Amino acid sequence: MFPYKGYAGKYLRINLTEGTIHSCELEEERAELYLGGNGFGTKILWDEVPPEVDPLSPENRLIIATGVLCGTLMPNSSRIEVIAKSPLTGIYGDANAGGFFAPELKFAGYDLLVFEGRAKSPLYLYIEDGQAELLPAEHLWGKGNTETARLIQQRHGDREIKVASMGPAGENLVRFASINFPELRTAARTGVGAVMGSKNLKAVAVRGCGNVEIADPINFYDVATDCHRRIRVNEFYGPVSRYGTPGLVTLMNPMGRFPTKNFQMGSFLYADDISAEELREHYFVRELGCFNCPVGCDKIYRAPEGTEFAGTTVRSLEYETLDAFGAAVWNNNLPSILQDNVLCDELGLDTISAGRAISFAMELYEKGILTKEETDGLDLTWGNYEVIPILLKKIAKREGFGDLLAEGTLRAARRIGRGAERYVMHVKGQEIAGQDGRAQQSMGLAHVTSSRGADHLKGFPTIDETGYPSEAVRRYGDEYMPDLIDPLSNKHKAMLVKDGEDFGAVVDSSGLCKSGGTFVLAEVYWTEMAKAIQYATGMDMDVPKLKTIGERIYNLQRCYNIMHGISRKDDTLPERFLKELSPSGHAKGHVVNLQPMLEEYYELRRWDKTTGFPTPQKLRELGLEEAIDRIAVAERASRRNP
Ligand code: SF4
Repeated sequence: MFPYKGYAGKYLRINLTEGTIHSCELEEERAELYLGGNGFGTKILWDEVPPEVDPLSPENRLIIATGVLCGTLMPNSSRIEVIAKSPLTGIYGDANAGGFFAPELKFAGYDLLVFEGRAKSPLYLYIEDGQAELLPAEHLWGKGNTETARLIQQRHGDREIKVASMGPAGENLVRFASINFPELRTAARTGVGAVMGSKNLKAVAVRGCGNVEIADPINFYDVATDCHRRIRVNEFYGPVSRYGTPGLVTLMNPMGRFPTKNFQMGSFLYADDISAEELREHYFVRELGCFNCPVGCDKIYRAPEGTEFAGTTVRSLEYETLDAFGAAVWNNNLPSILQDNVLCDELGLDTISAGRAISFAMELYEKGILTKEETDGLDLTWGNYEVIPILLKKIAKREGFGDLLAEGTLRAARRIGRGAERYVMHVKGQEIAGQDGRAQQSMGLAHVTSSRGADHLKGFPTIDETGYPSEAVRRYGDEYMPDLIDPLSNKHKAMLVKDGEDFGAVVDSSGLCKSGGTFVLAEVYWTEMAKAIQYATGMDMDVPKLKTIGERIYNLQRCYNIMHGISRKDDTLPERFLKELSPSGHAKGHVVNLQPMLEEYYELRRWDKTTGFPTPQKLRELGLEEAIDRIAVAERASRRNP
């Protein structure tokens, strides 16, 4: 009998080839060592998806996992993790989303779902309070995400059903296809939607009326309510709650951290036109928020009368999308960005990678590497926002030039040749999100060390982003000041990123939100998290144990990538960040000073500085003895082919 509270205590294994569903009891040891969400997914990939498995083959796993605190009173305990080997990067992949799906799954009686195989024809999984069945989905094939959810809710006569689905992009195996939760949110990165498509799994629909049992309700209530209170009085609560992530446009632009023209610049001349202030004043319709979130960073926006796309309505417009379809392509037509966002949500595309694919193509066009004949006659001049929806549809359908971009920018560049690879802004095959590391050195390092390729949310260094001195001193002591909070200094940034990655692994395994209380508002940290987990589950938990869990998860992700050929040589940035001086903002004249930070990072992690592999001592300390032999084989191969 599974001994801990907080969890549902059960999970489902769904073999789509055989059409079977097995309900399994959650393993006690797995919960103690890997906690939940991200940790569970990492361990399942490590155990079950070896290097020879093609990410789009039936042997890949699609893991949809709640966190240990999902569905509880802890603030923003709403996040769902989707984990699979990535079709974009070929290594460890995951994506995370808020909304209501994760708590609903737990209320329905399950902590996670593990899909394997491939269905002969399109199916969806329907779960209701401890019962699950696979149902035909031919009628849903080709449909957008909103309609898919609506049709499923209609079929079961219940508008409260929560749906995770993939759109036409996932069906057509676009390597950066997303999984969407039409009630609010998207698990977008690393192409998890294509893995869903490769399995002929159109959707997962969940309805649950159960609850989450808590081991020590009185103490848990105290921790949770204290975290809620502290978040509400945090100095950034007002702006984050009012503007959400679009508020970053006004903050990042003067720093030179707002990627413009495919990262040629870090400031956009027309940033004010696409800012949160502009959105709030002229486009705001109403507030939204995920399950049990005191922040409510989401909004509904609508393009006003008199604009080109009047009436276009979008939920959860993010900073990243304002960059990807705005500054990155030199577009200040805000209604057009709303329209691009809606299209990505319906087609099931990661707005970051889709936008980067288009800005990359625009730079090739500018440089004369791509001609109009090769772009299906489209004029890819900077700022030509009219081509963006055309390209998004072509990508999702894999039509003509869109088929090339659907492969992701690195594969596309390799096919184009003629020096195109130089203009791919990626790490390990994944497109870099809306942060220029030249303006925030810690972010440059975080892009490089992230276990899912270029990514801003694994290390998520927020302390030095805009200067957060009191929190920096509270966490690390004053001996690291003032360099620690100087975004242009590379001192102590390795410590910040490593701590962020380990804590982030725990946050992604707990089911809390990084835009909520953990990173952006920085009130829920190791101590609060350890207490919450102990009181929720009844596990014997403290900060050192929790830190070991975070480190274990992150090291196992690294080991997984090493098994797929990753080593120190891959921990790098495109030349643009290392050699081209930033031309704008506070970052003017700076590059990412990567190597000293990386050396310090390996030292802190106790990873071998030559190979970038965790040392056997480190793996032993983390209880990852099973990885030592497998890494040794990879190490011998890496030394033979440096
Ligand atoms: S902070 Fe925003 S994204 Fe995070 S849980 Fe709250 S509403 Fe959702």
